[in-house]
Amino acid sequence: MLENAKKVLEMITEKGYKAYIVGGFVRDYLLGIKTNDIDITTNATPKELQEIFDDACMPSTDYGAVIINNYGTRYEITTFRKEINYINNRKPEKIEYIDDLYKDLTRRDFTINTICMDKNLEVLDFLKGKDDLKHRIIKTVGSAKERFEEDSLRILRAIRFASILNFNLDKEVEDAIIEKKHLLKSISYNRKKEELDKMFSNINAKKSVELLLKFGLDKELELERLKDINNTESLICVWSVLNVTDIYPFTNTEKEMISDINKALQIDNYDAISLYKYGLYVNQQAGAIKGLDKKKITKLYNKLKIHSKKDLKITSDEIIKLINKTPGEYIKEVYKDLEKEVLYNRLRNTTKYLRRYILKNIDKY
Ligand code: ATP
Ligand code: MG
Repeated sequence: MLENAKKVLEMITEKGYKAYIVGGFVRDYLLGIKTNDIDITTNATPKELQEIFDDACMPSTDYGAVIINNYGTRYEITTFRKEINYINNRKPEKIEYIDDLYKDLTRRDFTINTICMDKNLEVLDFLKGKDDLKHRIIKTVGSAKERFEEDSLRILRAIRFASILNFNLDKEVEDAIIEKKHLLKSISYNRKKEELDKMFSNINAKKSVELLLKFGLDKELELERLKDINNTESLICVWSVLNVTDIYPFTNTEKEMISDINKALQIDNYDAISLYKYGLYVNQQAGAIKGLDKKKITKLYNKLKIHSKKDLKITSDEIIKLINKTPGEYIKEVYKDLEKEVLYNRLRNTTKYLRRYILKNIDKY
C-alpha cells in the first residue's frame, strides 16, 4: 500500500509539484493502525492534477478535492489552501490556493492530523504532532476556541478521535468544547450525522457516547435519548434508540428499519408471530437493545414453520375457490389466521389441513 502511495506522490512530484501524504493515514500509520484512505496535500491545482491522473474525479467543485482510486485505495488529493472568512462558524466563504505546505498545515484541525510523509516516506512534523501522538493527546493547531468558532464540527471531530484512538482531550480543548458547544446548532445535520456515524460504528462507540454526555452535547445535538444507549452492537441499534429520523438525514430503508426496530422493542422477541412479522434481523437488533439472548432468537427464528406467506401450502386462488366469493379483504383475514395457527403449531402446513381449517371457519370470512 505504501509503495502504491509512493508512486502516486512520485507521479505528482515528477511534474515539478510538491506532494505529501497527510492527515489520518500518517497518524494511523504511526500508531500501527491500518487505513484504506489516503489524504494527499499538494501545490498542484485540481486542474493540474486532472492532467496527471486520467481517472481523477472531483465530487464537489467548491471543496476542490480530487479523488483517485488506485489498487483498492482511495486517494483524496487537496491543494494547499488558506480558508478565508468562516461564515456562521462552518464553511469557509472562499478557499485560496497557496504554495506553502506549512501554511496549509496550520489551517488543519489537530496537531496529530498535520504530520506529513514525503515520497521517500520521510516524516515531516512541523507542528509537534508526533509528540502529541506519543502522549496520546488531542490538541488543536492554535487556539482551540478560535478553531471551534471557525468550524464547530471540529468539536465532534475532537471527540471522535479521542474515543476511536483512545486519546485524552487537552484541557484547553475541553474548556473550548464547553464554551463553544452551542455553535453545533448551526452545523448542518448532514455533517453532524457523518461524524456521529463514524463514532457509533466504531468499536469504541461507548466512549464516544460517554464523552458526548460528559460535555452535555446530547442537548446541543438534539439527541435526547443518548443517555439511554447501553448497547452499541450496531450502528442501527444506536440510531434506533436515539430515534431521531425526523431531524437527522436517513434513507427510507433506514427509516423503515428504525421504525420496525422500535416496534419490535415493544413486543416479545422470542414469540413466533413477532419473529415472523419483523424478521430475524430486526428482532436481533431489538433483542440486543433489550439484552436478550441473540442465539436463542436465531434458533427460534430458524425453527419457525413458515417464514413468509409463500411458505403456506395454499395459494390465494385456492382460497378464493374454496370460499367461493369475489376476492376481497377476507383473503387477508384467512392468511392472518393460517399464519397464526401454523406459527403457533396448532395447524399443520399441508394443503389438506389448511383447506380443512378454512372450511371449518368459513362463516368467519
Ligand atoms: P479519518 O479519515 O480517519 O476520518 P482524517 O484525519 O483523515 O481521519 P479526514 O476527514 O479524512 O480526516 O480529513 C483529512 C485531513 O483534513 C485531516 O487529517 C485534517 O488535517 C484535515 N481536516 C479535515 N476536516 C477538517 C476540519 N473540519 N477542520 C480542519 N481540518 C480538517
Ligand atoms: Mg482521511
